[in-house]
Amino acid sequence: MPTNDQVERLLHELMGAGSAGYPTKEQIMDKPHSHKPDVIRLCIQWKKEVWFPLRATEPTEQQKFEALKTLLQRIAAEHYNKPVEVDYQPEIGSCCYQPALNRITINKSLSILSSLHELAHHLFGNSETKACRWSVWLFKKSFPKAFRGLEWKGHMLVKPTCSVS
Ligand SMILES: [Zn+2]
Repeated sequence: MPTNDQVERLLHELMGAGSAGYPTKEQIMDKPHSHKPDVIRLCIQWKKEVWFPLRATEPTEQQKFEALKTLLQRIAAEHYNKPVEVDYQPEIGSCCYQPALNRITINKSLSILSSLHELAHHLFGNSETKACRWSVWLFKKSFPKAFRGLEWKGHMLVKPTCSVS
């Protein structure tokens, strides 16, 4: 028979980490994750030269997608020598990465954070802890203002209205 403490711990692990192996907020934010300085610079440059000007023009979804695709493909090819395909499927429930196809698929959320999360799977493999830590910290460093506007729901950072992982 397990002790109450053991049951408690097991429940905590199941609920905290989730069945899909997602880390908790504490495991993601506990200590900063380091990034290649050039990757942070690229994100900030993209934000100022591509994303902000685009948003000021009431862009179409396709235009936003093309901008996100540029960011992901530049990080992958220029800084990790791992080119990746990126496509847009507004109807799917969440963004995903398919290793067999070497392809990241972005859904209608057109979320920078979700896109970076899937890019992390392309660059570093299927660890959710690694993908969450790399993407959340890169987002926090490159988009500090947007980061402060998000709220935590379990392992996910969400906007008050729409959910982004
Ligand atoms: Zn993931």
